[in-house]
This record gives sequence, structure tokens and C-alpha cells, in this order.
Amino acid sequence: MQPWWLAFPGRDEHEYKCLDAAGISYMQDEEAGSRGVLQLHISKIVDVDVDLILTFPDLYPFFRPAVRLNDPEGTFKHHLHPFSGDLCLIGRDTARWSTGDTAAWLLTEQLPKAVDLGTLTADAERAADLSDEDAQAEPFTEYYTCFADEAMLLVDGGWQLPADANSGELDVRLSSVAPDVEGGTLGAVFGVTAEDGRSIGVLEGVHPTRFPHKILGRWQRLSAPVRHDDPKSIWQHARNLRPELPEAPREPMTPGNAHGVTVQITGLVFPEERAQRQLGDGWMFLVRIRRPGPGTQPPKGKGGRRQPQTGPTTTTALVRAGYSGRSDLTGRMPELEGLSGRHVLVLGLGALGSTVAEHLARAGVGRLTLVDRDRVEPGNLVRHATQLRHVGWSKAKAVSDVARSAGLYCEVGYHELSLGGVRWDPAPHHIDERSQQDGIAEIVDEADIVIDCTAEKAVGQALAWICAKRATTLMIASATNGGWGGRVATFEAHKPTGCWSCLELHLHEGTIPAAPAAPEEVGVQPVGCGEPTFTGTGFDLAEVALHTVRTSVGLLQNDVADGYPEQNAPVHLLALRDAAAAAIPPCWTAHPLPVHTACTGQHSSG
Ligand SMILES: [Zn+2]
Repeated sequence: MQPWWLAFPGRDEHEYKCLDAAGISYMQDEEAGSRGVLQLHISKIVDVDVDLILTFPDLYPFFRPAVRLNDPEGTFKHHLHPFSGDLCLIGRDTARWSTGDTAAWLLTEQLPKAVDLGTLTADAERAADLSDEDAQAEPFTEYYTCFADEAMLLVDGGWQLPADANSGELDVRLSSVAPDVEGGTLGAVFGVTAEDGRSIGVLEGVHPTRFPHKILGRWQRLSAPVRHDDPKSIWQHARNLRPELPEAPREPMTPGNAHGVTVQITGLVFPEERAQRQLGDGWMFLVRIRRPGPGTQPPKGKGGRRQPQTGPTTTTALVRAGYSGRSDLTGRMPELEGLSGRHVLVLGLGALGSTVAEHLARAGVGRLTLVDRDRVEPGNLVRHATQLRHVGWSKAKAVSDVARSAGLYCEVGYHELSLGGVRWDPAPHHIDERSQQDGIAEIVDEADIVIDCTAEKAVGQALAWICAKRATTLMIASATNGGWGGRVATFEAHKPTGCWSCLELHLHEGTIPAAPAAPEEVGVQPVGCGEPTFTGTGFDLAEVALHTVRTSVGLLQNDVADGYPEQNAPVHLLALRDAAAAAIPPCWTAHPLPVHTACTGQHSSG
């Protein structure tokens, strides 16, 4: 590819002309030039001596040039990368740069603003006009490059540690014990205590079985972020502040400490920006692991000397904090805050049900109960929420795993069975001799909403009968043959609308239309499967699943102020094809469900 100055002929000349006109002295960096990069050393802007490096990006002029201070020590508190010296001249939002802007504009118009705003004293900051900077925080931890890859320890961003607490202990739990910090340390701080043993932070609502390995950690408050970008220097800094931090890790990595590996986890808490110019507690962790040496080698030959013993080795890693309190997670979707106390029962965990369960967990539903009897086959993956590693699992267990991974606060239970059999759970290893009527009534009673994704007429009819008797809202979601359309029907308890039989009668008469469907002969019996399945793509079926979640979330929040809004018609139909079988954008229509005059069922009078 051509460099940008050849792709946009004359643009570099234009840049030089504008720099000259603005009274800017510069010199081209020859070494950078030999690598195909246009980099300028800026020594003077009008009458002011400066020491700046301006680098044009490869995708200039779509992206702005980078401007770096050669000597980043100084009075900048904001808008300066403390390690690289890169200046933040117009915010991170690329919309604030247009391709007609020039390096000269950046240096003469934007640089003075960044200098003014970046060097404000605390007092001046309160009175300052901050409209020239992005309304966003510049958390100091963003600048570190030395964090361990793929490692994170969770904390609650809602904690407010009292100002008189400066150090103490941490109740750290790890999800698994990894041999190295990099590549898979995930854990959570379940509790923070102060020097005097007061509990000053608790991670509420995360089930402890998610993080079974308990390790005692310590924490230390720092008055400012550490201005070093390597874990060992940061550790030295922390230890200088608090010499009683043990030099050697001594918490056993595994119960019983079979391998003699010990670990030391130290949380560092320091002020950093949470919102524009607002400070809060930033967290990061030093994880030090000490491995014993290989031990004394046996002597070599007769009279040989023992080989020198290799001592234990200690590695130090810096691990990012992951802010994962409930408020950290619901901040992106405030309309869903009320879901944490809600419980949904999903029956049928195929293409629809698995996606429904996953999205309910992501949305923050507090509890899910999942029911299915099938196993995950490789062929399911083309339109299922599970992954290759779940092949061979029961769908109930596999989808429960997906939902648990998607929703940190979601409690998931499951039953590996299907409705229509004799006795609740006839599995040989666990005989539960209850009637299916009693078993299903029990899990229906625990749920706020029941969602049937089985696409089995008898299951829908039986659930409608049970849910009506127990005054529980039932939703039935189905897709049509070929994935050409679908239907989401809601039978809300205490609503004077039609029942399951009413819907059947309306569909039979055509007073509620049918969703478009591929001709009947389209169908497939996969190799090794006992039953044929319908055809249809994952992305078309997901359309039905997502609308099912959207509708259920509205229902679950109908008594929550500012909650996600409720849909106001009970039957929703999806068309993904028109009458000529041509593809169309997803078209949902809403339909009333009046009580049918021929229906002999019981209907609520509202
Ligand atoms: Zn009816």
C-alpha cells in the first residue's frame, strides 16, 4: 500500500504550508521516515520553545496525528499519558477530528486548551469551563501496559471504603487454581476488612460455588497511583509504604499445599478518575507466586558432591480489577435493574430456548430454571447458544452452564426431563416418584413467568392448563418451518384475554393469521437422530428468541417504575418472508386475543 502522502497527493505539502504559516518550527525525523512514517520534532510554536514529537498515523487524514511531550515530567494532571508522554488534544472521540483539520490546527488551537485544562490546580478546576474536554474519566490504570494477560480479579465498583481505613485483609476466591497468573486467573474479592477487622466491603449476590478456592489477601491504600509500569517496581513501592507486607508469599495455592506453591495477593487502592474530574477508589492487584526449587540433586557417582540446590523462585504479576458489582453491570441498562429478583422457568432448550435462557441471564434475571431431556449434538451448534465443548452434555446442563457464564448474578437450576412421561424423574440413578403434575406445579409456583420453547403442542396445552390453575403467566414461543417466521403468545394471569384454546380456534378460523412457513416437505432428519427436525437458520430463529426475551422482560417489570416497557398485545407474529417467499426485514405484528365464542375454557374477567 502507498503511504498516505502518496495516496492523497499534495496533502503533505499542505500540512507543511500550514505549519509554516502558523509560525511552527519543525524538523522531520529521518529514522522514522526510513520506516515510512512521517514524524516531526516541533521545537517552537510562534515564540514559545517546546519539545514535542508529532507523528502522523498510517491512516492519515482519517485519524488525527499523535502529539507527545519529549519530557513528560511536569505539571500535567490530565490529558497526558504518564508513561509515554502522549498528549490527549481533542478527546478520544474520533468524531472531534475531521479530515480537513491539520497538524498546525492541532498545535495552535487544541494544544493550548490541553495545556490549560491539563495543568489546572484543584482549586482552579472547580471554576474552570471544561466544555473543551470529553465528559469522561481518564482512569490512571488505563495507562499501565504491564498487566498480566487474561487475568482479572473482580471487585464491586460500588464499594466506598471509609476514609479512615488504609489497609486490611481481603477474602479472595479464585475460580480455579492456574499454574500461572497469565492465561486464566479469574477470581473475585468477596470481602474487604479494615485494620481493626471491620467489614467494609462485601460482594453481594455472587454464588460462592463460582469461585471455590479461598485465599487470604491483603490490601493497601495509596495516596496516588504508582508511576511505574512494571510489577516489581510497583511491589517495591507498596512494600516501602507498608513494610509489614510479607516478602515471601505464604498462602498455600491449593488446599493441603501439595506442590508447595504459595501465593500472595495484594490489592492496591488509590484515587483515580471515575467520571470527568471525579475521583473514586481504583483497584489493582499484585499476585506473587512462589514455587519451590527442584530440591537437592543426588550426588553424581561415588564421592561426588551434591549439586547446589536451586532456591525457590517468586514471580510478580500485576492483575487488573474487574468492576462487577450489580450497579457496575446494570449501569448500561438501567431499565433492567428490577430483574435481579425475578425467576423464569424455560422449557425446551433448542435453538429458541437456549438463546432465550442466555439472554435472560445476560439481562440480569436473578434465577432461571431450565427443563429439557435432549443431548447437545454437533449439529445443534449451528443454531444453539452452546459451544463445541458442550457436545455430549445434556441440553439442560449445557444451557445452564451458558447462562451461568453469561450472568454473574444468575442462579441457574435445571431438570433433565421432558413432560409427557410417567413420574417426575424416572432416571435410574435418581428415581423421583412424584407425579409430573406435582413436579411441574412445584417449579411453576416458584417462577414469575413460564416460557415454553418446546414447539410441542401437547406441552403448550398442558402448561396452559397448569399455569391457568396456578395463576402464573405463560409465554409460548415457536418458529415456523424453514425459519420463515414465528409466533410469541402470552397468556397473562388475571387478564381478560383469550386462552390457549381460544388462540387455536382463532388460528383455525384465520381471525389471527398464521406466520409464514416453508412448504411442509422441507424438513430434515439428521443422521443418528430419532426424530426429524425443522429447518431454519440460527439467525432467523434468534429473531423469535430475542423477541420472546424482550416481551418477557417487559412483563417481569410491569410493576417497576422506569422498568423496560411492557408490550400491550398478547399475540406477536413474525414474518421473515413475504407472500412470494422473498426475504424481508423482520416484520413483527401485534394481535389482540379476544375470548372465542366457541371456547369452553375458563377465562378471567380481569
Ligand atoms: Zn378460551
